[in-house]
Amino acid sequence: MDDRVVILGAGHAGVQLAASLREAGHRGPLTLVSQESALPYQRPPLSKDLAGAGTEPLALRPSDFYAERDIVLASGGRAVSVDRDARTVGLSDGTVLAYDRLVFATGARNRPLPCEGGELPGVHPLRALEDALSLRRELDAARRVVVIGAGFIGLEFAAAARERGLEVTVLEYAERPLGRAASAPLSSWFLQAHRANGIDLRCNEGVRRIRRSEGGLEVDSDARSYRADLVVYGIGVQPNSELAEDAGLACENGILVDERLQTCDPRIFAIGDCANFPLATSPQRVRLESVQNANDQARTLAHTLTGTPQAYAELPWFWSIQGAHRLQIAGLSAPEDEPVLLGAPDSGKFSVALFREGLLVAVESVNKPADHIAARKLLASGAPVTAAMVQASASLKDLLRNAPIPV
Ligand SMILES: Cc1cc2nc3c(=O)[nH]c(=O)nc-3n(C[C@H](O)[C@H](O)[C@H](O)COP(=O)(O)OP(=O)(O)OC[C@H]3O[C@@H](n4cnc5c(N)ncnc54)[C@H](O)[C@@H]3O)c2cc1C
Repeated sequence: MDDRVVILGAGHAGVQLAASLREAGHRGPLTLVSQESALPYQRPPLSKDLAGAGTEPLALRPSDFYAERDIVLASGGRAVSVDRDARTVGLSDGTVLAYDRLVFATGARNRPLPCEGGELPGVHPLRALEDALSLRRELDAARRVVVIGAGFIGLEFAAAARERGLEVTVLEYAERPLGRAASAPLSSWFLQAHRANGIDLRCNEGVRRIRRSEGGLEVDSDARSYRADLVVYGIGVQPNSELAEDAGLACENGILVDERLQTCDPRIFAIGDCANFPLATSPQRVRLESVQNANDQARTLAHTLTGTPQAYAELPWFWSIQGAHRLQIAGLSAPEDEPVLLGAPDSGKFSVALFREGLLVAVESVNKPADHIAARKLLASGAPVTAAMVQASASLKDLLRNAPIPV
């Protein structure tokens, strides 16, 4: 309870951990190191509201939250070294912080565009508040936007730009949008929905280079060239794990932690987008990029750091808002899972239940929040749910109500 805790990164995971530690009665010094100078903020609106409607950034906590709880928010300083023997962290401004427990909550950063012209002015990643603010300034003067990558962030931004009346082209090198995280029926529904909304969404088109042209930018794909005033790319992220690696901690697609979120050094932990952890339900290791995962890992770790060790076992869930459509995903699916449609996609409200070896592993819901809530309860219960059980029920909510499932 009196340990000195230093948290690297003041994103969703870091801020939640600081808050949960104080709630759990931690009395020792608590320092949140943030390399960003803004008050810690929510990332999801950056590709949705902030790109579209022009709202202000949403703070994760009010500005007086930190001082009121005696949490030192060290903003604008990057952690540059960790000395595990001395138990200290060095910051870019020369400050040295001593710790008893150190937590990496350093998140992830955009993978750079691997083509010529990827760093030209007018070509933007979208991860941090400053990216979103400079994008918004340029959006005001733009007419044509090219988005590279039809993942969640690319499609959310594309839909928001379309809402502002811009001409939007999305180029995706894979054969379907959302291919990394969603089932084939869901991909094909979103492909049609975005096209119906006037977005020129093209698959199987990789980008070879971006050039300056007289009228702005020219994006050369494998197939043809597109003119743009602005280019935004979202082609995946890489974990911020170099500092941990330099400190001799085991890393592989993120910082490797055990079920208690502890690294190979018992005084050092990792949570959120930067952590690669074992799933409770299978022998698989994963690194997840979601607010749920960041917050729940922070809450679990707060218990461990205040003397009641817990294993992380929360059900993964995720949401995305693409224009008028809300997608919610409960559980984790894999490309080979068997999809079963629930409801009619043409109605714009439906779910896709995904089965592995005959059992429900995930549910993707489009504009059907009731399905999502029921799916979370069903999946979290751990009870075996078959396709026959789902098909015999009027809805997932009914299945939950009527089946002898312990929830
Ligand atoms: C545009 C966008 C939209 C998204 N939309 C959704 C959504 O709709 N739903 C959803 O579930 N998830 C969404 N996500 C993902 C979600 O935001 C992340 O999973 C979440 O932010 C992870 O939290 P984190 O604290 O692990 O990392 P982050 O929020 O990335 O925070 C890490 C912080 O650590 C800082 N940092 C890194 N290295 C250092 C260092 N050496 N020293 C000091 N500070 C450092 C970083 O600058 C950053 O501020 C979205 C992400 C983006 C970018």
